[in-house]
Amino acid sequence: MKDPVNFSIGQPDFDVPEELKEEAIKAIKAGENKYSQTAGDSLLKEKISELVKKEIGWDRPAVLVTSGVSGGLLLAFMSLVNPGDEVIIPDPYFVMYKHLVNMLGGRCVFVDSYPSFELPLEKISKAITSKTKMIIVNSPCNPTGVVYSEEQIKALAKIAAEKDVLVITDEIYEKFCYEGECPSIANYYRKVLLLRGFSKSYAMAGWRLGFAAADESLKDVIEQMTKIQQYTFVCAPTPFQKAAIAALDYEVSDFVIAYRKKRDLIYEGLKDKFELIKPGGAFYAFVKAPAGGAATEFVEKAIANNVLIIPGKVFSEKDTHFRISYATSDEKIEQGIKILRRLT
Ligand code: PMP
Repeated sequence: MKDPVNFSIGQPDFDVPEELKEEAIKAIKAGENKYSQTAGDSLLKEKISELVKKEIGWDRPAVLVTSGVSGGLLLAFMSLVNPGDEVIIPDPYFVMYKHLVNMLGGRCVFVDSYPSFELPLEKISKAITSKTKMIIVNSPCNPTGVVYSEEQIKALAKIAAEKDVLVITDEIYEKFCYEGECPSIANYYRKVLLLRGFSKSYAMAGWRLGFAAADESLKDVIEQMTKIQQYTFVCAPTPFQKAAIAALDYEVSDFVIAYRKKRDLIYEGLKDKFELIKPGGAFYAFVKAPAGGAATEFVEKAIANNVLIIPGKVFSEKDTHFRISYATSDEKIEQGIKILRRLT
């Protein structure tokens, strides 16, 4: 396609801040090019531990630096999911979860969160069985942009605690939060594996960095993940780990303000023509396709009109919505809104 409106991209449109690039260059020039410890550079691990202690309140967290949150997810699922295990996943969901569970012989138990995309608490509670291995939460959510409220997060913590079920919280979009803070279930429940990353917050998607953290009581899980990392990825890229130390002190609020404006542009531009929930975070909107056809048909029509969007069925068992990523220029957003409005 020639110069499309690309609403399909899952990464920020800004570049890594210059001073963080300099940190990576400095590390490479200083010869930080060998393997790091499997669990990660010790300074970076220390920094992550401090962050987790401060933000979550775990005294002696177990920490592992991963190759992206993708790496963290793969290691976590490989460590935890045995054939026949059930994994509860709110639908719509980030694509990897389903395929990892299936690959490991587990069973996905999808809990429908349409049309509000809030946590379907009652359905989650009912879905828990003796085979449940874990519940996945992802807030701010890809693909819906929904941020779960503190009330909902606390209610989920209560349900999980009653049944003693592990929760994996994928918080890769935690910085992209437009109405205050994004509550983390890790603040209300100990049996939580926390996954965070650098790809979105600092636009370092190609640097492949993330981390996993857990309370001391779950250090076995981190140990197993570390063991598998040793025999697979070995370690996350060493010079970029050095730059990540500086990234953790880097203020990204200007980017977040710019992205809040993009969120407003998309929402205000589409809300009278389409059914959509106002996204509270990440950089996605999950929009219902106009009546009278499957979402995939609408997506084909949009692509024929130079707008790239992703059919919701990639992220869901349903084919009713499409995902817009508004991580593009304001000009392209305006252009895309005009075209989509015309197609209704
Ligand atoms: N979790 C979610 C919800 C995502 O959207 C993504 C990236 N699209 C990832 C994890 C993986 O990100 P990365 O491996 O780049 O850290």
